[in-house]
Amino acid sequence: MRPDQYAPSLYDIDFESLRDKGIRGLILDLDNTLVPWGEDTVSEELTEKIKELKQLGFGMCIVSNNLGGRVNSISSRLGIEATSGALKPLTFAYKKALRVLGSDVSTTALVGDQLFTDILGGNLVGFYTVLVDPIVDREFLTTRLLRRLERVVRKRLGLVRRSV
Ligand SMILES: [Mg+2]
Repeated sequence: MRPDQYAPSLYDIDFESLRDKGIRGLILDLDNTLVPWGEDTVSEELTEKIKELKQLGFGMCIVSNNLGGRVNSISSRLGIEATSGALKPLTFAYKKALRVLGSDVSTTALVGDQLFTDILGGNLVGFYTVLVDPIVDREFLTTRLLRRLERVVRKRLGLVRRSV
């Protein structure tokens, strides 16, 4: 369940060094990684970041456990691919994302805010995994319960979380 890398947010990740490692595809969690949980608005900052990542040559696909409409609306505004209803940590959506990206496991990195879904699933497939802090703390009750457990595991792994 240990991520390969930790960064406080998407904006703190050194993507050039990922590219230098041979990473060409990025699989991105949506809620609390790209946008605040449940929100529909795409910030200027995010739009700029995605544009910059495209210029660096990354192919990108959002993989979200949430259902269709909102996920697709955000991904189309950002001009990147998406798969929704992913049931992470099950890995079929990640495999689908690989087909969409036309990349393979060894050249793909995953960015997500949850150890038990994003990072666990990503490690199962064999991606290079990057854990970020959640943008906001508002979430499903089940997620909140997982978070408590997550805090314990993070502590064990020495992944100190920036206060949210
Ligand atoms: Mg998330």
